[in-house]
Amino acid sequence: MQPISTPPEVSIVVPIYNEVDNLPDLVTRIEAAMRSQPLSFELIAVDDGSRDGSGKLLLELARTRPWLRPVLLARNYGQSSGLQAGFDRVRGRYVVTLDADLQNEPDDIPLLLNRLETDPDVDMVSGWRKDRQDAALSRKLPSKIANRLISQATGVQLHDYGCALKAYRRHIIDRIHLYGELHRFIPSLARDAGARITEVPVRHHARTRGVSKYGIDRTFRVILDLILMVFLMRYRQRPLHAFGGVGLWLATPGFLILAWLFLLKLFGHDIGGRPLLIVGVMLVLMGITFVAAGLIGELLTRIYYESGGGQQYYVNEPETSSETGANSPA
Ligand code: UDP
Ligand code: MG
Repeated sequence: MQPISTPPEVSIVVPIYNEVDNLPDLVTRIEAAMRSQPLSFELIAVDDGSRDGSGKLLLELARTRPWLRPVLLARNYGQSSGLQAGFDRVRGRYVVTLDADLQNEPDDIPLLLNRLETDPDVDMVSGWRKDRQDAALSRKLPSKIANRLISQATGVQLHDYGCALKAYRRHIIDRIHLYGELHRFIPSLARDAGARITEVPVRHHARTRGVSKYGIDRTFRVILDLILMVFLMRYRQRPLHAFGGVGLWLATPGFLILAWLFLLKLFGHDIGGRPLLIVGVMLVLMGITFVAAGLIGELLTRIYYESGGGQQYYVNEPETSSETGANSPA
């Protein structure tokens, strides 16, 4: 890798897993697209532990291309970690992401960048595959449902969460951290980090080389992640209000039932054989458990913010990347 003295204006991040047949075209077409517009660029190509020689090919391609920066991960960590590895290394004031399989159109990159350049009220431009070229039943339908669910649940309404082609102002990227499967929720995370988001229709092609790494089997994981996202967006700062709320809704009827039975007992009725007794005791115990979980969550939250790890808020200063609201005294 050759050092570049002045940082580029745009950092393009591409996660790569077993895409050796796509890489030469990808690199050529990204270069052509970027040379057609005025901003300088770098391509951070993250090899996510490929076993088909993608990493080696990247190193080779980089030898004659100073703007190509390969990052070779030690094993396959997944798309989110691949993207994060790229995000950790960006130097530009704009960041662009796209897939390595050429399903996204590199020629659309200038379109997204132009929007960021000309519209100061937008921090993130998300591609919208209006004419998506994937299998209808196994890919498009689940993704349509997922879009609805995620839009509803996180309150960030988009047509196409899953489009990898996106462009951001740098400070947004600095504020989000991807792991696990969270790349599916980047717009929600970005919104949470203060991004004003817009969607722009982009082209989409069928995969012509290599195979898709994802199937329909991920539904349950996505549902669990969705629950996590809602929790993160709404209750991250007050876990007691999420768990404790459930706890009180359970414990209150439980207490009423027990009080009622207590009165009956007081007036000489036999309450031993009543299923209601068990229900009352169960509800109260479950309620106490939920409140306790909320308190533990609250404790963790306090530790998180007070240790300086958590950002409680972000200040609206678009072109600076370090303005955060760490809760610790600085
Ligand atoms: N990818 C990755 N690590 C993985 C799986 C996928 O870096 O563990 C990359 C892959 O090479 C591609 C992008 O993530 O650039 C999207 O993957 P894919 O095209 O298989 O997903 P699909 O478009 O079918 O949803
Ligand atoms: Mg793909």
